[in-house]
Amino acid sequence: MIINLDPIFSAEGAFQEIDYSLDLSGETVNGLHPFSSPVNIKGEIRNHTGIVRLDAKADSVLDVECDRCAAKVKYPACADVEHIIVRSLNDDDNDSFILAEGSQLELDDIIREDFLLQLPVKFLCSEDCKGLCPNCGKNLNEGPCSCKKEIDPRLAALAQFSDFE
Ligand SMILES: [Zn+2]
Ligand SMILES: [Zn+2]
Repeated sequence: MIINLDPIFSAEGAFQEIDYSLDLSGETVNGLHPFSSPVNIKGEIRNHTGIVRLDAKADSVLDVECDRCAAKVKYPACADVEHIIVRSLNDDDNDSFILAEGSQLELDDIIREDFLLQLPVKFLCSEDCKGLCPNCGKNLNEGPCSCKKEIDPRLAALAQFSDFE
């Protein structure tokens, strides 16, 4: 979405509403394409006493995999997109400032970057996901695997017996 900044910069109190969807289906996160649903953006760009702020929320539902057990997970993700838009940068300006030298502001890249930066590094199907057995690879959320039987005392005794033979 392209915003025409001139009318916003030229009058205090001027604003433009933002309400649109962004397709990020081409984005890769952890080797997957999790954006099967569009990202919905709602907010505004407003001139508050001469300072132009972009203030929006972006949300979507991502198709990701659990970092421990690789189960498919629907992850509701939300990001704050908050920036001050300036037409020239001073030394004391910081990263949350966006420099817009022309009269148009391309929102898509700003939202894309903020949304990806605010995603968690890891996704879990649940806080207490037991993960996969490092030995046999079985999903331990579905029950214990046969590796545990190695410490069964009867089997241990049998193993000892066959050693003795
Ligand atoms: Zn899991
Ligand atoms: Zn196992």
